[in-house]
Amino acid sequence: MLFKYRFLSFFGLVALCISLACKTQLDTQPLLADPELRMGKLPNGFTYYIRKNKTPEKRVTMYLASKAGSILETDQQRGIAHFIEHMSFNGTRHFPKKELSNYLEKSGVRFGADINASTGFDETVYQLPLPSDQPLLLANGLQIMRDWAQDANLQAEDVERERHVILEEKRYRQGMSQRYQEQSIPFYTNKSRYGTRLPIGTEEVLRKVTPEEIRQFYKDWYRPNLQALLVVGDIDVDQMEKEIKAKFSDLRNPDKEKERTVYRSELSGKNQYMQFIDPDLGGVSVEILLKEQAPMITTTADYRASLLKNLLGQMISSRFRGLPLASFITLEGGLTAFSVNVTTKPAETEHALKSVWLELRRMQEQGFTQGELDRVKKAYQQKMADAMKEKNKTASEVLIKPYLQHFLKGNTAIGIAGEYQLSRELIPDISLDEINKLMDVCLKSKDRDLIVKASEHNKAFLPDEGTVQGWIENVYAQNLTDFEDDLQDLSLLKKEPVPGKISAVEELKVAGIQKITLSNGMTVLLKKTDFQNDQILFKGLASGGASLYPDADYESAINAASVIGAAGAGNYNALQLGKFMVGKKVQVNPFILDQYHGFDGNTTTEDLPVMLELLHACFAEPRKDQEAYTILVERSKEELASLGNDRSRTFMDTANLVLGNNHVRKRPQTAERLNAIRLDRAFEIYKERFSDASAFTFLFVGNLDVERVKPLLEKYLGSLPSRHLHETVRDLGINVPPGRISKTVCKGTEQKSSVILAYSGALDYNFENTIKMNAIADVLKISLTDLLRDKEGATYVANAQMTLSKYPKNRFVLSVTFDCAPQNVDKLVALVQEEVDKMKQSGPSVENLQKFKAARKVGLETGAKNNEFWLGYLVSQVMNKEPLTQFYDYDAALNGITVKSVQAAAAKYISDKNLVKLILMPEKTKH
Ligand SMILES: [Zn+2]
Repeated sequence: MLFKYRFLSFFGLVALCISLACKTQLDTQPLLADPELRMGKLPNGFTYYIRKNKTPEKRVTMYLASKAGSILETDQQRGIAHFIEHMSFNGTRHFPKKELSNYLEKSGVRFGADINASTGFDETVYQLPLPSDQPLLLANGLQIMRDWAQDANLQAEDVERERHVILEEKRYRQGMSQRYQEQSIPFYTNKSRYGTRLPIGTEEVLRKVTPEEIRQFYKDWYRPNLQALLVVGDIDVDQMEKEIKAKFSDLRNPDKEKERTVYRSELSGKNQYMQFIDPDLGGVSVEILLKEQAPMITTTADYRASLLKNLLGQMISSRFRGLPLASFITLEGGLTAFSVNVTTKPAETEHALKSVWLELRRMQEQGFTQGELDRVKKAYQQKMADAMKEKNKTASEVLIKPYLQHFLKGNTAIGIAGEYQLSRELIPDISLDEINKLMDVCLKSKDRDLIVKASEHNKAFLPDEGTVQGWIENVYAQNLTDFEDDLQDLSLLKKEPVPGKISAVEELKVAGIQKITLSNGMTVLLKKTDFQNDQILFKGLASGGASLYPDADYESAINAASVIGAAGAGNYNALQLGKFMVGKKVQVNPFILDQYHGFDGNTTTEDLPVMLELLHACFAEPRKDQEAYTILVERSKEELASLGNDRSRTFMDTANLVLGNNHVRKRPQTAERLNAIRLDRAFEIYKERFSDASAFTFLFVGNLDVERVKPLLEKYLGSLPSRHLHETVRDLGINVPPGRISKTVCKGTEQKSSVILAYSGALDYNFENTIKMNAIADVLKISLTDLLRDKEGATYVANAQMTLSKYPKNRFVLSVTFDCAPQNVDKLVALVQEEVDKMKQSGPSVENLQKFKAARKVGLETGAKNNEFWLGYLVSQVMNKEPLTQFYDYDAALNGITVKSVQAAAAKYISDKNLVKLILMPEKTKH
């Protein structure tokens, strides 16, 4: 039937009546599942999904999905579903205690609760990414999945230990967003069960729950008729199916099965109002939710309806210039909503909401233009065509997601080819009239929730329900001007470029790179790959950035790229440019950072010429746009106001300032700083930064046709002017300061502390040292997790990170961060320092060093076939003036790293004489 439909529309015969006839047939026609998917169900009800995919090669991703989430908990069980997820990493039948994580980490798989698993309201999902070319590892992977399905040990002593970790996780999650969820979910899901089943659970249950109670929940709900195994990767499908049948067929459902109710949030048909008052809130927010039931997508008609909404969402977003003021969102329990959201300074809410609603009214009453619809259709089809081109180069991690949704929600997974085909058939037939009607439906007046948010301090500014209603009604009394959809038919560039020449070409054979020098002195590196079928990534950079300007110009300099980038280029302002580029895949973003400036972006083979033309325009023909500048600055001020009083933000502001040596450029963001951005000065700085082509190195990675690219480079980049200034970054002394520094920030009343310990100093920057320094941080992260989380049960996450820099100075910063109870801060800080001392005295354990090496090797293997990895890698080699072929020496260098050499590096560089200690405490502690 699909074929017939396509056939008819192909001929375009009296399209209207025929396509209407077809539409009624479409309504009931079920979508066909992805033909490349092998799906089946065992007699015990266990479902499996298998799909072969060779991106990445020799790897496989497995999910065990269980429809056992927090929604199934009774009041006395709140938190158990998530507790079981944690317990699954504390030993199973075939992998007792911590053998599971030890075993996998030695194979380079980062492993642990909440790293490879997540618990939601309706489900718990376990994930395992594995090499697929090692039969033993693969077989053990399946065994782990089988163990998780029904054979977790759930031992009493482990329950006691893990209890503390989960209580710390609850502490870690404390904060405004948690408080908002607790209050808002019951409200907007109309007192549904979702409102009282946040997966983290209640403190009371977490403190008291017994191993027996946990086992009971496990027995009731971890059963084959609620579970599925999903396997996507470089595997043999028949073989995998055989093994799944052998391994999972004997899983048993309980004799007396509990009913697995599917809980839904119901609509009431009424309008509601809620206030959310929170000390961490800054400005005033008003959110309006226009709710409806979310349909499952199983038929062509469902798919078409979702497509319609998608197109409308993009048209709305484009009217709001991409600002997230109105959009479609998903709510818990099968609801969706059209959400209108404004955040302002306290006294400006009325004006802001009215202006947003006026735009909405314009869309509702005047409708959209055919041009607008055509553009989003074109863009959508372009997106589908791109996905289709990369179909056989799409990562297993991406392909597996729709299968998971099929199992959990019932939405048909039709695959990339299916979606491509379907959207090609459906899109031409979508009319402006349908879109306009849908817009009208979105702004309906029932099932409308109004949520207003502020701090106690600003409570007086919160409008009540009637006031907001009055504002909206008032908008309908105003005069409405027409929407102007201006699209000019001009060339992008004002002036045709005069091409330069390629003056030298050098082959770096080992790395497969061509190094090209242009006649204006610009360097271009081309790395041709076949990792994706049609992707070209690029980045161009030059030394200097905002460091070259005095402090007085800093705000204009550091924001120049955003301010001028928002103005468009060549003959077009940003809005016109967006329209001009519809249907083309072209991204060009200028940046000016503290030490570097340049461009990055991406495109396809076909669009490379227009991408380079735009790049030329951004270099040579930038624009200044007062309106775009004002919108940008005002929007940033609103965002700043909404961030307000948040205690962790206040702490991070202090941390940045202290770690930045109290430099004036490291001050927290303020409205004054935003006011200091001068449009004229930003424009001058932008032009100056991009006036010397000889300062730039551009890197292009992807499926490049090198010979076809060369004349384009000569035309669009070789034509740019050069000044041969040889600028380099200016050292402003923005380093972590030497000496012992302690600073405590006391804020808020949450019983949660955050700690940052930063060791820093000079470093002999060379290849081996960079690997050893990274080993120190990665191994510390493993041992601190083991100690602070697993043994002490005193934190949820312990992090250690190494930052290395070569310019302007050779330096390192090792930072350790964690959250914990205020009363445990001193103890944990002492433990971290002991662990660092151990590293200096005896180095890492052999086992942990092996885990570090295994993880790095996996990173190298997957990175070697990834465009993003190569671009990032080459950029950092260029920035640090290191050899571009160093990648190929990494494996040998990694093998050469020993316990002794890591220990020696730690002893040499890391000293508690240069240690910054930053601590966030509540205002009144119970010490
Ligand atoms: Zn957790």
